[in-house]
Amino acid sequence: MKQIVVISGKGGTGKTILTGAFAALAENKVMADCDVDAADLHLLLSPEIEQRHQFKSGFTAKIDKKLCKECGRCVAACRFNAISEDFVVDPISCEGCAFCKFICPAEAVIMQENIAGEWYISRTRFGSLVHAKLGIAEENSGKLVALVRQKAKELAQKEDADWVIIDGAPGIGCPVIASLSGIDCALVVTEPTLSGLHDADRVIKVARHFSVPVALVVNKFDLNTQMSEEIESYCHKNNIELIGKISFDEDVVKALVEGKTIIEYPSKGAKEQIIQIWEKLYQRMR
Ligand code: SF4
Ligand code: SF4
Repeated sequence: MKQIVVISGKGGTGKTILTGAFAALAENKVMADCDVDAADLHLLLSPEIEQRHQFKSGFTAKIDKKLCKECGRCVAACRFNAISEDFVVDPISCEGCAFCKFICPAEAVIMQENIAGEWYISRTRFGSLVHAKLGIAEENSGKLVALVRQKAKELAQKEDADWVIIDGAPGIGCPVIASLSGIDCALVVTEPTLSGLHDADRVIKVARHFSVPVALVVNKFDLNTQMSEEIESYCHKNNIELIGKISFDEDVVKALVEGKTIIEYPSKGAKEQIIQIWEKLYQRMR
């Protein structure tokens, strides 16, 4: 089983469009949406949720008023000022350090596990999808990404799948690092702008730091051919495979509006270029 992740130095470069296209092209695969902060692969794949699970992460203190002796020790001790003078914990301010529980003489403090989001196993027209939703203002998206990756891998093993195709998290933070572990190829998508190259360079450095093989795609390359040439020479200089270039094509947006991948849309141009990219990836990873 091979795992491919599609990533980008920032959001909005066409990462999900490419992942959706690969979902349509690859046979015998499981898909995973690791962009848990702004998941949108489901817009293309229209999943039907079959399993729904809670994602628990971190703890919040709660004071049992029946046991509390109102000694005030916890109020004085909490360095996050999360406990009010009438001994109520503010869950937004509480960092879950459990110091108040440790010092409470009445054992009145309970540490409750937070429900920080949900994760799902869904059926789509292309096969199984593991995806997730982080609760509003919740942190720990890296932990949720790691969970989605683990569940997708387990499902792929159970279904004897040949591929796990992953829509990675954007940027270079904790979620993208969690997207990269144990990956056979990270496909970096960029656009032909200076900031696009800068963002791609940063995420490539992160991938290489973790010894993940990298290939690069320039999306909408014809909007700035000079910059696309600069990206080509950057790849050449840094020994990065430029696996394909995709032209700007309005059909990509038209397909998206209809909830289809570009592969399912009667089109040429970008669609054919994406098919070629997939064939190259397939050959490279067989
Ligand atoms: S330390 Fe315990 S007993 Fe004292 S005020 Fe806090 S919760 Fe109540
Ligand atoms: S768990 Fe830590 S942060 Fe939360 S109320 Fe207790 S001492 Fe404060």
